[in-house]
Amino acid sequence: MINTNFTAQLSNTHLLKNQAYIGGEWSDNKKLAMMNVLNPATNKVIGQVPSLEKKHIQKAIKAAKAAQVGWRKTPATQRSIILRKMASLLIKHKQDLALIMTIEQGKSLLEAEAEITYSASFLNWFAEEARRIYGDTIPSPLADRKIIITKEPIGVVAAITPWNFPSAMIARKLGAAIAAGCSILVKPAPQTPFSALVYGKIAELAGLPKGVLSILTGDAITIGGEFSSSNIIRKISFTGSTEVGKLLIKQSASTVKRLSLELGGNAPFIVFSDASIDDAVIGAIQSKYRNSGQTCVCANRIYVHAKIYDEFIKKYIKKVAALKVGNGTDKGVDIGPMIDEAAILKVENQINDAIQKGGEVLLGGSRHELGLNFFSPTILTGANHSMLLANEETFGPLSPIFKFETEEEVIKLANDTNFGLAAYFYARDVGLIWRVSEALEYGMIGVNTGSISTAEAPFGGIKQSGIGREGSKYGLDDYLEIKYMCLAGIDQ
Ligand code: ADP
Repeated sequence: MINTNFTAQLSNTHLLKNQAYIGGEWSDNKKLAMMNVLNPATNKVIGQVPSLEKKHIQKAIKAAKAAQVGWRKTPATQRSIILRKMASLLIKHKQDLALIMTIEQGKSLLEAEAEITYSASFLNWFAEEARRIYGDTIPSPLADRKIIITKEPIGVVAAITPWNFPSAMIARKLGAAIAAGCSILVKPAPQTPFSALVYGKIAELAGLPKGVLSILTGDAITIGGEFSSSNIIRKISFTGSTEVGKLLIKQSASTVKRLSLELGGNAPFIVFSDASIDDAVIGAIQSKYRNSGQTCVCANRIYVHAKIYDEFIKKYIKKVAALKVGNGTDKGVDIGPMIDEAAILKVENQINDAIQKGGEVLLGGSRHELGLNFFSPTILTGANHSMLLANEETFGPLSPIFKFETEEEVIKLANDTNFGLAAYFYARDVGLIWRVSEALEYGMIGVNTGSISTAEAPFGGIKQSGIGREGSKYGLDDYLEIKYMCLAGIDQ
């Protein structure tokens, strides 16, 4: 079932599917248990998708294995053409796809459109990279032989994706897999299956051979269990919480899988005394409030130098207070609803904990007057490292501000976490910029910017924020195996 209010808003409904895509076939939903999908702006059911059983997952795995035989031999130029077609279909239907995303995820239409463009950029990037999967020859220590290195697709890959970027997190994995010559099974987040199922339809339209891609909706534990225990699946690429990432590492031990994990973050955002305060305010808002604060690279802790503290706060409050909260489909909305009640409770818990430990709420601090899943953009000063917000990922529109005096002190504080995904800082002194970039224990550093993601750059973290990189020339390596061929006897 798909609610008619939902379909009525689209100019073209052929990309909106409520069937799972199993080995190139759309599921027969009459025989399946179904799960509700809600609009987080209204809490109303917008449709249902199947909750697949083990046998369906196994069928998709078998189909992926069968498709793998021909797909890995398909010339890179051909794989590239299909990826490009998929990218152009995303762009062609951008408005409808953005609307589907906003209705199931909540983000503003503007952000949803930007995400579709971002998704297409991964497909185009990997379409180009597919043709550059180069090998090596290595001088041999023995005269009778050659050492030759080739790169081969790893094989069947499984992807488990989150709801916060329901399209781009799939594109980043699927683009790399298809470019490398792998088949891929995608399990999207239960909150946002419609943006995921779109990929089944555009793959069909672009001529991707059946079985190379499956989109499997249903219970996370059932599907995750089948993925982890399968000997056919050679790799799992996961984006989500550190907790589930750790579980997948454990579960995949018995089949020794390659794992790419993009897990939680707790990004520091540092404003040094020589920074442009106006630029830092804009960067902090971009980094903190995008997607209502629900991104793994969101600024989680804002450190401001004592000298410019008052000025920064004054300017920051003014700009944050002007952000418009509302349904993502309404014009001019900056901040949509949070994904659900549990997400709100986590933010509230962090705010209450911070207040008990000396924090002061300067703006917001509570649910928005619109009710439901809407939360007011919040600024809290007097933050310190005994607070939960310094140790946990917030994933909501809360800016805690910490005051600091020295470079040494702020670096120590910034690194005082088990996370290591993104970090940001604003400064002009070139020596300081270099020293701080080196000292920050993070996979990605934004200097004088709050927005760093792009298909050309390697996205990923260190410490408990993950393993591996996505996007960029490095992103393809995670889908390739190195094969060493020793060719001897050439002197005979
Ligand atoms: P979040 O809390 O942001 O939803 P999760 O890590 O729980 O983050 O979810 C990310 C993805 O992982 C989703 O697709 C979710 O369904 C899936 N997931 C959750 N639990 C498991 C599990 N035990 N095994 C496999 N996948 C899981």
